[in-house]
Amino acid sequence: MTVHFPFQNSYSALPDSFFARVAPTPVAAPRLIKLNRPLAVQLGLDPDVLETPEGAEILAGKTVPAGADPIAMAYAGHQFGQFVPQLGDGRAVLLGEVIDKDGIRRDIQLKGSGPTPFSRRGDGRAALGPVLREYIVSEAMFALGIPTTRSLAAVVTGEHVIRETALPGAVLTRVASSHIRVGTFQFFAVRRDTDAIRRLADHVIARHYPELLGAERPYHALLGGVVARQADLVARWLLVGFIHGVMNTDNSSISGETIDYGPCAFMDAYNPAQVFSSIDEMGRYAYANQPRIALWNLTRLAECLLPLFGEEQEKAVADAQDILGAFSETFSDAYQAGLRKKIGLFTERDGDDALIQDLLDAMAKNQADFTLTFRKLGDAAGDPAADDARAQFMDPAAFDEWARRWHERTALEPQSAAERQAAMHAVNPIFIPRNHRIEAVIQAAVNDDNYAPFEELVKVLSKPFDDQPDYAAYADPPLPDQRVLQTFCGT
Ligand code: AMP
Ligand code: MG
Repeated sequence: MTVHFPFQNSYSALPDSFFARVAPTPVAAPRLIKLNRPLAVQLGLDPDVLETPEGAEILAGKTVPAGADPIAMAYAGHQFGQFVPQLGDGRAVLLGEVIDKDGIRRDIQLKGSGPTPFSRRGDGRAALGPVLREYIVSEAMFALGIPTTRSLAAVVTGEHVIRETALPGAVLTRVASSHIRVGTFQFFAVRRDTDAIRRLADHVIARHYPELLGAERPYHALLGGVVARQADLVARWLLVGFIHGVMNTDNSSISGETIDYGPCAFMDAYNPAQVFSSIDEMGRYAYANQPRIALWNLTRLAECLLPLFGEEQEKAVADAQDILGAFSETFSDAYQAGLRKKIGLFTERDGDDALIQDLLDAMAKNQADFTLTFRKLGDAAGDPAADDARAQFMDPAAFDEWARRWHERTALEPQSAAERQAAMHAVNPIFIPRNHRIEAVIQAAVNDDNYAPFEELVKVLSKPFDDQPDYAAYADPPLPDQRVLQTFCGT
């Protein structure tokens, strides 16, 4: 049996300045530790064949499959606000693209597959811990219904990578609807290469925004499309308590998928100022700052597109400002609508926003667990005697006062208690990838070569909205001594 990838590559057919051709660097002793079988099938790949030793060699970058056209993509980016004119894939190689079962073009990329011309001082490798973190969190996001890159496989390389200490090396196979970022446009903008910007924009429209192909002003419409998708994405992040951690422009996807899971985390207790990333000393990428930063990144994209907006510069800038101006409303519409659903409202009335804000304020003040408060509120909607939501508050009286107003408000709607509970449970997950669980999984894998905890966590998180009584403990927040205060960059 040989592994067949039905590649149909389009990015590698773009001009040479878009990438560097580079093959993955072979590794000593690849061992497959996880294959995402349903995703393999979705991509038209045979999971049984991928699980053979030959499959593992491909997923580790030891052999390049037929039809692949391996490249490292060029991009620039603002990192924590500082512009770097050349970043690029320093430890990733795009093998190629396949058309999935739904007709969607998907990149298949190896991350951690060795140095490229963009590696600078880096070794081009990834450590096992960050690979497992990205696998777990990206697949959890998918199960939560949030646009995201996916994880097809994780392999250990049989080699060590040197970080603070020597750690097992690993390669993640990442699948994305593309790896084109805001930073990809910036790469050409800083080089004043307007032809390349136009080529890239045309590629992006055809690939991610085909509905805009006939638009009167396609590049304006493209900016509008990316603004809308990013606004919606960030609203969805906030609604599940997700903190990306490194929203640099090079980690901001043009397709509107969540990309680059480094020091990301889901918050336990609700705290709008929460930061996890050890490198985010200023709180630039704090939970509640994410909408503002997304708009900042989109403003950088708009700057790149200005040369395509026409000859008249002032007009071009005014147009861009108009389009960017839609971000706030699109974001708050999605966010407020999501919050109304989270508290079980089927309609919209005056006073709803204040009711919701008062809950969030009380949660912050009382260190209420974000996920459990909303999930258990669903139980309280079904049965007013259920008091687990109340139990999330340090001062439960703060909840009682709010709950009285909430019951008055829901009583204005005709839906039954059971209907309301079902609707709430469908949007409020019980299981999220809690940081202390991820850390425990990583410790077992790295220290004991034990992947059973990883398998179990991935399985539980694949059904985040289902009560799974056998795995109830996975819903629990960390005990004080289990709390993870920082997550570290994935390099
Ligand atoms: P990230 O923090 O993963 O978004 O990466 C930012 C930039 O650093 C990208 O250009 C990466 O390709 C590059 N990079 C990160 N880690 C490594 C590494 N171990 N070796 C080479 N380049 C890296
Ligand atoms: Mg990145």
